[in-house]
Amino acid sequence: MLGRRQFLTGAAAAAALVAAGCSSSDADADAAKPTTTRAAKPAAVTVPTTAAGGVDLATNPFTLGVASGDPLSDRVILWTRLAPDPVADDGRGGMAAASVPVIWEVATDERFTRLVAAGVVTATAEHGHSVHVDAKGLEPGTDYHYRFTVGSHTSLVGRTRTLQTGSPDQFTMAVVNCQMYETGFYGAYRHLADEDVDVVLHLGDYIYELPGGDSDRSSKPNRFLTTLTDYRLRYASYKLDADLQASHVAHPWVLTWDDHEVANNYMGDTIPGDPDASHGRARKAAAYKAWWEHQPVRLPAPDGSNLAVYRAFAVGDLTRVHVLDERQDADQPPCRPAGGTALDYGDCDARLDEDRSRLGTDQERWLTSSLAEGGVTWNLLGNPVVLAGVNAGKDTDAYYLDTWDGFPQARERLIAQLADVDNPVVLTGDYHAGMVLDVHAKPFEQSSKVVATEFMSPPISSLLFPDDISARTPQLREQLNEHGYLTVSVTPEELTVAFRVLADVGDPKTAISTPSTWKVAKGNPVATKA
Ligand code: FE
Ligand code: CA
Repeated sequence: MLGRRQFLTGAAAAAALVAAGCSSSDADADAAKPTTTRAAKPAAVTVPTTAAGGVDLATNPFTLGVASGDPLSDRVILWTRLAPDPVADDGRGGMAAASVPVIWEVATDERFTRLVAAGVVTATAEHGHSVHVDAKGLEPGTDYHYRFTVGSHTSLVGRTRTLQTGSPDQFTMAVVNCQMYETGFYGAYRHLADEDVDVVLHLGDYIYELPGGDSDRSSKPNRFLTTLTDYRLRYASYKLDADLQASHVAHPWVLTWDDHEVANNYMGDTIPGDPDASHGRARKAAAYKAWWEHQPVRLPAPDGSNLAVYRAFAVGDLTRVHVLDERQDADQPPCRPAGGTALDYGDCDARLDEDRSRLGTDQERWLTSSLAEGGVTWNLLGNPVVLAGVNAGKDTDAYYLDTWDGFPQARERLIAQLADVDNPVVLTGDYHAGMVLDVHAKPFEQSSKVVATEFMSPPISSLLFPDDISARTPQLREQLNEHGYLTVSVTPEELTVAFRVLADVGDPKTAISTPSTWKVAKGNPVATKA
C-alpha cells in the first residue's frame, strides 16, 4: 500500500504538528518525541460522559462512520456526524440541541503513535452535529490515518491520502455514481475499499428522493423527500451501509451531485410537475444543507438554495480534475412548458432554437479560467451527465433532454473549450450504463473531429437502462449494461480506464471483474480498447 508514498520522519511530524496549530501543552510535549510516545489527547478538553443537554453519550455516536475528502497536497477534510440514534424520526440522529466538542486526530500510523495533527471541533445542532475539519500541515502524496473521539467513544479509523506534487509517475481515481439503496447491494463499494486509488470521484445520485418503501432493504423515510428532516433521514439511512462506509473509510472522496440529490430531472429552480419556483428553491435549500452535512467537502455551509459546488484540483504537473455541477443554475430544458407536462424524453422541436445555459454564468466563467490554467498533461472533466450525445430512439430520434442533448449550443461552447486544452478526457455518470463515446466537435457528426473520449461510469446499484443505443449514436464505441465503477489511471504518457463490473448487484458478496479496458495516449484523443 505504501509503495512510493513517503512517511513522515519524527522531525517532520513534529514540525507538522506545530504547523497544524495544536495548542495544548500535551500535544506540544508529544511533538518533541513523537516516535516514542503515544500521543495523548489534548488534556484541556473534557467531554461530558453523561447527558449534556440530553445527549446520551452512553451510546456510540459514530454510527454513520467517518469520511475524508477534497484532498490537497497539504490538507484534507475529515468528516463525521454524531448520530447515536441515526434514523430517529426528527432527523436529529438522537442528538439534542447542545453543542458537543469532538476530538480529531491525524497520524501516520494506524495505532496513532505518530500523531501529526489534532484538535477539537464543535458539533452543533444547526449542522446536524456534523463536523468538517480541514486538517492542515500535511505532507504531499502521503497516507494518513484519522479518528474522532467523544467521551469514551472513538470512531472507526479512516485512511486518507494527500495529493502528490511535482511530476508524479501516476495518479489513480475511481469514478462512481447512481447508488439507489433499494435496487441493489453495495458490493461495488466492498470491492472499491480494497483498490489502491488516490481519490474516489462521485458524480451524483448519491441518494434518491423517492419513497424508500418497506422491504428488507429500504431507506428512510417512506415518502418523497421535501424537508430537511426528510433528506437527513435519507442520508443517514444510506450511510449506515457497511460497504459504503468501508469505501469512505479507505479513500478520500471528491463529490459533486446530479438531480436525485434534490429531485428527478430538476433544473435550476424548477422541478418537473411543479412550476412554482419557490417550491424548487425550498427543496434545494433543504437538500443542499443535508448533502453538505453528510459529505466530506471543503465548502461553506449552504445558506438557502445556493452553494457553489464546482471546483478543481491538480496533481502536480500530471493532471487537473475539473468537477462540475450541471443542475443548480441550469436553464430549463426545451419542451418543459410552465404549468404543462415536461417532455424529458423525445425529439423536441425547440431543441436547436434557443441558446440556454447548462452551467450558469458564474460556473461557465470559472470553468474557462480553470481550463486555461494549464501546466498539466491531462485535463479530466467530472461531468455528471452525458456530453457526447445519446440518441436512444429506435425508429425515430429520441433524446434525454435533461442531458447535454437538451443544451446543444452550450455543449458546442464547452466542447470548443476542451478542444483548446491539453489532453481532455470526460468522465460521466447518470445514464445507468457503462459507455465509451467519442466527443465530436459537432456531436452526431462523424465527419467532425474527435475532441475527447468520454467514459461513462456504470451505476453502483441503480436500475440499468439496458436499451441498445447504437443504432442512432454513431459516436458510441462500447456499451456495458452492468453495475460497478471505473478506475482511471493517468501517467505522463497515457490514461487507462478499467470497467470494474459486478457479477450480481443483488448479492452483497458478489464477485467483480474487468471485462473492458481502454487507453488514451497523450496527444491522441481517440481511445483504443486494450
Ligand atoms: Fe441515477
Ligand atoms: Ca441522474
